[in-house]
Amino acid sequence: MPTYNYRCKLCGFEFKVQKKMTDEGPSECPNCKKNEIEQILNPPFFILKGSGFFVNDYVKKKEEKHKKRKEKSEEERIKQKRIEKELKNIDFKRKPIV
Ligand SMILES: [Zn+2]
Repeated sequence: MPTYNYRCKLCGFEFKVQKKMTDEGPSECPNCKKNEIEQILNPPFFILKGSGFFVNDYVKKKEEKHKKRKEKSEEERIKQKRIEKELKNIDFKRKPIV
């Protein structure tokens, strides 16, 4: 099933929806529940046609972006773990002493 990218015009929330081409798209934003969704179309690759240099540059940038994203996700994972740990601690402290 193809994946479609959508963006909320109001809050800028971006999300993906897997659906059949014949299915209707989402009608409301999962974030703010407003009915202002627009579809994000795939990047127009045909623009790159003609200049090999530009394509190489583009690929390089893409790789860098990918690398950065990987590093970031690792960072996020550690951050998330820390938050989870803190939440557990808070939970523990909040338990009523009876
Ligand atoms: Zn929204």
